[in-house]
Amino acid sequence: MIAGLPLGKTSFPQRTPLAAALEEIIDRCTECSACTRNCAFLAKNGTPKSIAIGFDFTSPLHQQIAYQCSLCGLCAAVCPEQLEPDQLFLEIRRQHVKDGHFSAKLYRPLIAYESLGSSRLFSWAALPQKCETVFFPGCTLPGTRPTVTLQMYQQLRQAIPSLGMVLHCCSKPSHDLGRTAFFHSRFDELLNRLASHGIRSVLTACPNCTKIFRQYGQGLAVQTVYEIFHAHGLGKTLASNTSSGEVCVHDPCPFRDDLPVQSAIRGLLTDLGHTVVDMRHQKQRTLCCGEGGAVGFVKPQFAQGWATLRCQEAGKRKLVTYCAGCTNFLNRVTPTVHIVDLLFRPEAAAKDTLNIARGPSTYLNRIILKHRIKKMT
Ligand code: SF4
Ligand code: SF4
Repeated sequence: MIAGLPLGKTSFPQRTPLAAALEEIIDRCTECSACTRNCAFLAKNGTPKSIAIGFDFTSPLHQQIAYQCSLCGLCAAVCPEQLEPDQLFLEIRRQHVKDGHFSAKLYRPLIAYESLGSSRLFSWAALPQKCETVFFPGCTLPGTRPTVTLQMYQQLRQAIPSLGMVLHCCSKPSHDLGRTAFFHSRFDELLNRLASHGIRSVLTACPNCTKIFRQYGQGLAVQTVYEIFHAHGLGKTLASNTSSGEVCVHDPCPFRDDLPVQSAIRGLLTDLGHTVVDMRHQKQRTLCCGEGGAVGFVKPQFAQGWATLRCQEAGKRKLVTYCAGCTNFLNRVTPTVHIVDLLFRPEAAAKDTLNIARGPSTYLNRIILKHRIKKMT
């Protein structure tokens, strides 16, 4: 029983990762409220310290609170004590699963989406001779923008002729739901397959895939396609008269500490002819778009709250982001465009006539893309 522990120096009989995370928050959080001011979930439930001492995290009911946190990491970014409340909430989720209380039914669409991404039907590895680097576009970009995904691959192959392409899910949904054992079984299998083909580096487009490969990639070099595009002057090459005007950049939260990719995006936008206007929350202090941590499945008002905040900060300016999931989510409340649409479909992006696939057609798109790549390699 963790609830009701006295403040100050604490100790736990079994120092599980959850116990260690609770202990750290209880011992070091000064309740300065820097994090609660920025987060509706904390504003409602209290400072991380008050949550840590006020809840019994052996109770499945109390554990469920962690699924209302979007795991965005803003609390860690603003904490003067360098604490990581987001990691505490992830550990609570993991404990919830370990204790057998997790309800997969609640997250069925997300779990099905992830499973299909790793299935034989949807996954594919196109590995040309002497291939050591692969483009890993993730699930959402190929589903919503199959032609652009192919154009990205072709563009990248001009810089790296032996570049391969791997269509697969990185299994971040399970990671964030706390299904740690399942996540590792899937992701480690993918890593083994890449290693068996001699792959040494991965080019990513999705922030979630990037974070997973960086954290668990066992020595694989990881770089984003945006950095490659910027380094090769793609913004200048593709600049057209249609690209101009002020835009705001929504940095996806998995990239909050990634200065090189943040700079590459702003460089690409400037090269395209846009003026980037700063928002209050950006770069290291960026906000969640609302989709993070699958909060929308259990607390849609918190998810919506993040998106509304973003809309307010952008004012009437268009948002540009570099995550297909953020683009979908934010587009519900304010005009938002993916950087790859500005690069590869500038006219449609400028006229707001982009035809972004949704729902079941995204699955069909992924199968069609897979067959187009099979034919190419
Ligand atoms: S990770 Fe994000 S949603 Fe969760 S407590 Fe921190 S700021 Fe709030
Ligand atoms: S910002 Fe850090 S010290 Fe301040 S209340 Fe949040 S976790 Fe505690």
